[in-house]
Amino acid sequence: MQPEEILRRQYLDAMGITLWERRVASPATAIAEAPAVAPPPPAADVPPRPAAAGPDWAALEDGVRACTRCALHATRIQTVFGVGNRRAQWMFVGEAPGADEDRQGEPFVGRAGQLLNAMIAALGLKREAVYIANVLKCRPPDNRDPKPEEVECCEPYLIRQIGLIQPKLIVALGRHAAHSLLKTDLALARLRGQRHTYQNIPLVVTYHPAYLLRTPSDKRKAWEDLRRARAIMQETA
Ligand code: URA
Repeated sequence: MQPEEILRRQYLDAMGITLWERRVASPATAIAEAPAVAPPPPAADVPPRPAAAGPDWAALEDGVRACTRCALHATRIQTVFGVGNRRAQWMFVGEAPGADEDRQGEPFVGRAGQLLNAMIAALGLKREAVYIANVLKCRPPDNRDPKPEEVECCEPYLIRQIGLIQPKLIVALGRHAAHSLLKTDLALARLRGQRHTYQNIPLVVTYHPAYLLRTPSDKRKAWEDLRRARAIMQETA
């Protein structure tokens, strides 16, 4: 077995997805229950793309850090801007910081973040090679759902981040990210399994990692979403 395949299996294992051995002519052939796909490319640095101008990023970061547009500024420890490669081809968008993120100032650093890391790694990518951001830059108290007025206030920051990065593909994690980016209120089940477009950028919707922690039986569907996203990325490359 190739080292990349061994690594991919380890990451799928970390996602909680079991691979089954099929008893066929080649008994060593391990397959996922879903149709086989080519193994992902080995984790690698993303090829260079034109960088967005620095001052735009600096101004945006300053704006977020000082933001008082909605009531969440009063209860936050700090804002959670976003993290990763600002020339990333892949961008993952979550909902809002939780307690760990509020403390550390970085998105997806708690348990859901560990699962997101495993999902990213299963794609053959490194966390540092992608960009991760949330719809909201401040933590809603008690991890409640974002309010529409909070999304409205915060959305321009995410739109600007996407504009600066110009990723080749966006993965919306959960219904809040999907609803905010796609301007829809359709159920997640209706939004999954399709290729959407956000400002001419292909967008795929999948489950939020926090949901997957509560409902591990849906991890296999999330893996299907990620494979679909990878196929779209390969088509557009
Ligand atoms: N959930 C999110 O949506 N974002 C984070 O950064 C952490 C948990």
